Amino acid sequence: MSGFDLRCSGYGRVAAADPKEWRCPECASPLELIDRPAFTTEMIDRSAPGLWRYRRALPFAPERPVTLNEPSTPLVPVTIAGAPVLAKLDGLLPTGSFKDRGMSVLVSWLAERGVTHVVEDSSGNAAASIAGYAARAGLGCTVYAPATASPGKLVQAAAFGAEVKLITGSRDDVAHAAENAALEPGAAYATHNWHPLFIEGVKSWAFEVWEQLGFELPDAIVAPAGSGSLILGAWHAFGQLGGRPRLYAAQAAACAPLVAALDSGAEATTPFERKPSLAEGIMIANPVRGRAILSALRESNGGAIALAEQDITDALLAAARQGVYIEPTSATAWAATKALIEQGEIADGERVVVLCSGNGLKATQAIGELIG
Ligand SMILES: [Zn+2]
Repeated sequence: MSGFDLRCSGYGRVAAADPKEWRCPECASPLELIDRPAFTTEMIDRSAPGLWRYRRALPFAPERPVTLNEPSTPLVPVTIAGAPVLAKLDGLLPTGSFKDRGMSVLVSWLAERGVTHVVEDSSGNAAASIAGYAARAGLGCTVYAPATASPGKLVQAAAFGAEVKLITGSRDDVAHAAENAALEPGAAYATHNWHPLFIEGVKSWAFEVWEQLGFELPDAIVAPAGSGSLILGAWHAFGQLGGRPRLYAAQAAACAPLVAALDSGAEATTPFERKPSLAEGIMIANPVRGRAILSALRESNGGAIALAEQDITDALLAAARQGVYIEPTSATAWAATKALIEQGEIADGERVVVLCSGNGLKATQAIGELIG
């Protein structure tokens, strides 16, 4: 059963989900699910190991999920700013980042709907993940990346068999190249920035935390935020579970459109003039779903916090000294957790989860330069 409806977040047009429609064809707004059912312990598929345990929280039921038997990632006690915190290690998913949650679900649906070739634009973890799941499903895959991207990040996608095409020009030029390629018959734009099913897959991280805590919710979660799928996924999952932990988005100060919008009281993000940062996974100047992310942060009584580069590198090394090897983008959330505890925003005795989105092995060169 692969049919469900999507609604345009701009003018409310409702239409059946179509593999060719990754945004509203009339007004180019993001598409969203119309409703999400309440989820209870009885709905868990106890025969599945990880994210597919929560398949009944999805809007479709794939006959054959495209899966690498993803594990429920570890929830590990660590110490941050002297306080006990739980670190959720999504770098231990099959291709090394949380993106596998979204791609397993999105590729499952696209394959079931007859798509034979997936196209994505990314120079990092999303490229590796879509390529891995396309390989698993036997689909063709093309990844478009900026000509300036560091080649290291694309090796994994190429090894999975993806065709990697480097585009000279702006980030928008890269996206347009992918959009155009996806117009071919049988192809689909499997965009992690736009596709609502990607977020529906990512939300499994919050369901796992709930089950790992004995079916209780934490008081607060902290996650890195670029296009915001970890925050929005948690928001949707906690809604289905009937609770509202505080949500905190961690951004590099070098690119912090969510922080800027919250500080100014704006309802939507505006393009942020970004500077270079080690946290390359969250360098999104104006997230597609900025309005929805801001609303979730506010309604949950959480917020967003901008971290200096030095705070990010300090956090990466502090995590590593506890045996937790994360990439710089993940270290942003670790650094944000430290700041929130030191500011008293997270109080003594509160149960807080920090999402570590990517494996440190993804960033060997950058981390090598840090430690000299
Ligand atoms: Zn529309």
